[in-house]
Amino acid sequence: MDHFLYRDGALFAEDVPVADIAAAVGTPFYVYSTATLVRHFRAFDEALAGMDHLVCYAMKANSNQAVLRTLAQAGAGMDVVSEGEYLRARAAGVPGDKIVFSGVGKTEREIRVALEGGIRQFNVESEPEMVALNAVALELGKVAPITVRVNPDVDAKTHAKIATGKSENKFGIPIARAREVYAMAAKLPGLNVIGIDVHIGSQLTDLAPFEQAYLKVAELTEQLRADGHVITRLDLGGGLGIPYETSNEAPPLPSDYGAMVQRTLGHLGCEIEIEPGRLIAGNAGLMVSRVIYVKSGEGRDFLILDGAMNDLIRPAMYDAHHDIVPILEPAAGAEKQPYDVVGPVCESGDTFAKQRDMVPMKANDLVAFRSAGAYGAVMSSEYNSRALIPEVLVHGDQFAVIRRRPTFEEMINRDSIPEWLEPHSAT
Ligand SMILES: *Cc1c(COP(=O)(O)O)cnc(C)c1O
Repeated sequence: MDHFLYRDGALFAEDVPVADIAAAVGTPFYVYSTATLVRHFRAFDEALAGMDHLVCYAMKANSNQAVLRTLAQAGAGMDVVSEGEYLRARAAGVPGDKIVFSGVGKTEREIRVALEGGIRQFNVESEPEMVALNAVALELGKVAPITVRVNPDVDAKTHAKIATGKSENKFGIPIARAREVYAMAAKLPGLNVIGIDVHIGSQLTDLAPFEQAYLKVAELTEQLRADGHVITRLDLGGGLGIPYETSNEAPPLPSDYGAMVQRTLGHLGCEIEIEPGRLIAGNAGLMVSRVIYVKSGEGRDFLILDGAMNDLIRPAMYDAHHDIVPILEPAAGAEKQPYDVVGPVCESGDTFAKQRDMVPMKANDLVAFRSAGAYGAVMSSEYNSRALIPEVLVHGDQFAVIRRRPTFEEMINRDSIPEWLEPHSAT
């Protein structure tokens, strides 16, 4: 459930008319709902009530400082995958002991920054990483708390680009080799092995792959304990999917997920960590765009928007579906017609939807892409020298710009001209 509903014929973000935000900041833009963000965080937090747990928001989904601060104040920890994310989390007020560091390619520099700044744990993904982490920890006179990310070889049944738990994926250590790797970790004095980590993919719409993976983690926990390791923490990753096509999808709820976690792992007495990203931020955001032209093509009509693939790349990158709704509520039973919904970027990949049934649209109308709060703004670029679009956060009847649109001057001046080129001569 989100807080973007029609009221008196117009779309609202909580208690703010979306059209008012468009008038204030210009289109396109992202808008996020505080109430939805917090509601989704709490849904996970409550789903794990009864077990010692921490919900670490996977901030790669949406790492705006105001979003992080909102979630941190609700009690969230953070899952980070880079130095930049670590520093963002700290800047948003998240203490080091609530930050977990994931990722297959942590550099020595990133490891050092996190160890010096304070970290809850590293989720280690390979033996060479273990060696590097041990060396940096010893050099700093510290002991790094770690889990080892295991690859359970289960099929997450999601888009190939976001499946991470099959043996052919680059992630984690094959679960069959885990005991050997834990034995190695236990011999490294700069490491303190505290648990197991697993993350099998993103946008999972079924609990079965999670359950298969967690049963393997339960078995491994018992084996590792028998081998003499102290396993007190299980990091179960993220990945629970959201309904992008609200008319025909109903992925499991956080409460179902929590019950499954209790059932498969509860008896082990471990502290549970989860790393949801998409399910917290996805339905908490819209991308709002304006129709520039309606163009009649050969047998089809194009809705040409001012938003493009550089602003929201998910349809081009993952063949993703986003519901696209008009800001003015269509009359009940209004006739619909098919449109190809596209942006202005100079490639055919800049297509948001093909033959999408919508009520008749005209130039200047506003539309909203639903479920655009996760993997939207964070994946945007300035391709075609289009400025990064603003982000806005709504809280009740208030709204604030939380990242402004850069000026073209700022964009141009980010580049520099080498000395050997002639200075620009105004003619
Ligand atoms: C991407 C990722 C997540 C978050 O996935 P969602 O599908 O957004 O919940 C969590 N943990 C790790 C290690 C990831 O790579």
